[in-house]
Amino acid sequence: MTHPLLDLPPLSAERFAAIEDRVARLLDTRQDVVITQGEALLPLEGAIRAAAGPGTTALNVITGPYGQTFGDWLRDCGATVHDLAVPFHTAVTASAVREAFAEHPEIDFVSLVHAEAATGNTNPVAEIGEAVREQGALFYLDAVASVGAEPVLPDAWGVDLCVIGAQKAMGGPAGVSAISVSERAWARMAANPNAPRRSYLSLLDWKERWIDGGRKALLHAPAQLEMLALEACLERIESAGLDAVMARHAGAARAARAGAAALGGGLEPYVHEAGDAAPVATTLRAPSGTVASELVAHALGSEPGLPLAAGGGALAKEMIRVNHYGPDATRDAVHACLAALGGALAAQGLTVDVAAARRAADDAWR
Ligand SMILES: *Cc1c(COP(=O)(O)O)cnc(C)c1O
Repeated sequence: MTHPLLDLPPLSAERFAAIEDRVARLLDTRQDVVITQGEALLPLEGAIRAAAGPGTTALNVITGPYGQTFGDWLRDCGATVHDLAVPFHTAVTASAVREAFAEHPEIDFVSLVHAEAATGNTNPVAEIGEAVREQGALFYLDAVASVGAEPVLPDAWGVDLCVIGAQKAMGGPAGVSAISVSERAWARMAANPNAPRRSYLSLLDWKERWIDGGRKALLHAPAQLEMLALEACLERIESAGLDAVMARHAGAARAARAGAAALGGGLEPYVHEAGDAAPVATTLRAPSGTVASELVAHALGSEPGLPLAAGGGALAKEMIRVNHYGPDATRDAVHACLAALGGALAAQGLTVDVAAARRAADDAWR
């Protein structure tokens, strides 16, 4: 008997290229798209190591934990790095980016995370992209947590290196990822003697041996199951319509935010302005006197499998994350999270109104 996951014919170069073309359509880009054979950290790191070097002056925007990591990679490559850190309850503004350019006119690289699943904020990439274009800098964007939940448009926004992963709002696999690369970015890499070559991190290897060769021969055996899962995930998004998928995430975010506020017990949205809140996940501030990780543990104890988590690291005390993405971007998932959090708060002796939370969530969803 053949096994459906094991006894598969090899994934052809032609099919691999067709999946890349589907990703390009999803991003509405004419740039080269490379599907990278690993979790999104692979192209995120590969792009920085390829594009940055001792001659680079980078503006590294930090609105969550990933920005910190990008700054570390940039420094490791020998770049001069100016960090622009923004409190996690808000988003960065284009004017703050312009001020950084005015202060450091030599900036020629900008790294930014679009939406932060870990902190629940989202940044105005279109406006920032305009500022970056005026500066003439190379624009690197982590769109892993935004793609599928809100528009990601590298060409329209002037993004030179745009990294996506399928495991969040796309509802797909985590083991492959993709990056769109502009001509400018390829040129920057080609001119960088320190850019990884003949390395698993190398994007230039894919440029020279895959793209420039007409996408006829793969560099190595692809992650076949993950590629098939990515293909299925893209098909599912295409048949539902990307707009409908994004609308579902926006609805879930509105519902979670409004529902949490109506729940009471002192629970509040972590991100102050609704406009700065990411459609992919809603973060909440645990009421004073409570510990976020304990509330989440209680909620998951009553209903295991809910898309709830505490913030990472030091945020575990104060931040609750409602990860309403992919299959959990539904009204039912938001309702279930609100009810379970209501139970956890009530167990602490706080007064909550789960019925009011449900009503507010439903009103906001519409
Ligand atoms: C989820 C995510 C990634 C990918 O990292 P994992 O934690 O391994 O899934 C990268 N960047 C951002 C902004 C993310 O939210």
